[in-house]
Amino acid sequence: MAVKRQFIAGAACPACGAVDRVQRCLDGERIWMECVACGMVRDLDDAPPAEDPPAQPVTLRPNKRSH
Ligand SMILES: [Zn+2]
Repeated sequence: MAVKRQFIAGAACPACGAVDRVQRCLDGERIWMECVACGMVRDLDDAPPAEDPPAQPVTLRPNKRSH
């Protein structure tokens, strides 16, 4: 089965920092990402793609007890 490869737009390689050089590879049930710049390979079995939104600080609101 041919491996499906798709560049992840705007994704930076966690290893070398190259942008738009990271491919999302899909082969049947297996999914991983590869960097064509440095050869980094990382499994993405259940991890979200690198294009997920930036982390936002979670604001915990204490329970307000009204009288
Ligand atoms: Zn890289």
